[in-house]
Amino acid sequence: MKAKLRIAIDGPAGAGKSSAARGLAQRLGYVYIDTGAIYRALAWRAIQQGLDVERHAEAIADIAGRMQVEFRGTDGGQHIFVDGEDLERQVRLPEVGAMSSPVSAIPLVRQNLLQLQRDLAAGGGVVMEGRDIGTVVLPDAEMKVFLTATAEERARRRFEQLKGDHPEVTFEQVLAEQEERDRRDSSRAVAPLRKADDAHELVTDGMSLDEVIDRLARMARGMESDADV
Ligand code: C5P
Repeated sequence: MKAKLRIAIDGPAGAGKSSAARGLAQRLGYVYIDTGAIYRALAWRAIQQGLDVERHAEAIADIAGRMQVEFRGTDGGQHIFVDGEDLERQVRLPEVGAMSSPVSAIPLVRQNLLQLQRDLAAGGGVVMEGRDIGTVVLPDAEMKVFLTATAEERARRRFEQLKGDHPEVTFEQVLAEQEERDRRDSSRAVAPLRKADDAHELVTDGMSLDEVIDRLARMARGMESDADV
């Protein structure tokens, strides 16, 4: 029987992590776990309850410690359910995305979400995507990938996505905002974005999504056979 791996995929925003992680999970018949959606769901709950990060960090961390999170397949793809409620649409709202960043910087929030994330990965057969999966959440994951691309390439992809809905946004603005976000993510005190020493780094400039998924799937299959049980 083939071993069911725990695969950690980390990297900066705009590197194509989500599409690659989702595609890889599908290819391998694994479950895809989008940990960013957990931080977003927490941000949504905080907004709903009128909590703000400066004044109510403990209350927000308390919610984090009690949330029941599940990823379930639906007709519209995989959705995040929190305490039984489908929050997929809400977590994608831009204001929820904006709030998720300060929420994720609260140390007690990260601590309280640790066990939940580990439980979701227990048993293997998962592709878990985030910023600190290979370094903090699953330091003993069987396969770790740090997926990245040059700043220009990431900004170009983001710009292509945005320009239909936001014709006023310029490439230079997207690049500047991204640089600011990269700086914040890598310099924050808790769980800064960094490549685990034993992660495979893949720079995706010039690669199509299919090529990225092919590369990762080959790597995973090699490891599944090495670890045959
Ligand atoms: O990846 P996504 O944009 O959905 O993540 C939402 C927020 O959660 C981001 O601000 C990111 O910094 C944070 N996050 C995190 N650790 C993770 C996943 C996401 O701090 N493992």
